[in-house]
Amino acid sequence: MRKNKSWALEDLEKLEEFCNNPDYSTNDIAKYFGRSINNINATINYYRIKKIRYEDTGYRRCCVCNLVLPLDEYHYNCQDKKHHKTFICKHCSSERCKKYYYRKKGECD
Ligand SMILES: [Zn+2]
Repeated sequence: MRKNKSWALEDLEKLEEFCNNPDYSTNDIAKYFGRSINNINATINYYRIKKIRYEDTGYRRCCVCNLVLPLDEYHYNCQDKKHHKTFICKHCSSERCKKYYYRKKGECD
């Protein structure tokens, strides 16, 4: 099984490099190494590597337009326990509202 495959030093260095770049998700890293996400998380914990996320730097990637924007560009959302921000930026959420509005309006005409 690949599960218990040990880490080569250069792989660990690569892993650390990925962890320092918020562009890579744990999923991306797992795919790169051909390992499971659990394995990556366990390794990160074991070697005490810090996984940098955009949110640690005050940014978030919008899940609609995919742009990385400051947390100020997101509306308040009480369901996000950590940052209290939505996962869709203000611009995309207003676009969504407009579409919803016009669709509703169209239905009424
Ligand atoms: Zn957006």
